[in-house]
Amino acid sequence: MKDAVCHKFQQEVSNVLVRHKSILDIITKYQESCAKVNRAIIKSVTACGCIRIDAKKQDIPDHISFEELSDYMSNHIAGELCDICRDKVEKELGNHLFYLAALCNALHLNLQDIMLDQVKSLETLGKYSLY
Ligand SMILES: [Zn+2]
Repeated sequence: MKDAVCHKFQQEVSNVLVRHKSILDIITKYQESCAKVNRAIIKSVTACGCIRIDAKKQDIPDHISFEELSDYMSNHIAGELCDICRDKVEKELGNHLFYLAALCNALHLNLQDIMLDQVKSLETLGKYSLY
């Protein structure tokens, strides 16, 4: 069932993408959509204020295990997205996914296969994948 959702999404993108079918349009729209995701997150900070960026150097003690490392790492986000900002970020992420699927379609790549390869890589390499 989950496989069907990804395949259906990629097929629907193929069906509706007419105006920006050129790989040049897709690449630039993909980049633009990424900027809009970032913009939506930043506006949640600067316009709404529901979240704050509270960044500082990650303070990691010496001689800790990899398993303990996540206890010392911060995402530097304080607060939670409000409903309005959550909707905006989700909308922009959806638009970004649209152009990712379009990019896959133009290059005859299967997004589901790419995702499955990544899952296998993460399962195999685990913490050594260092994402
Ligand atoms: Zn907000």
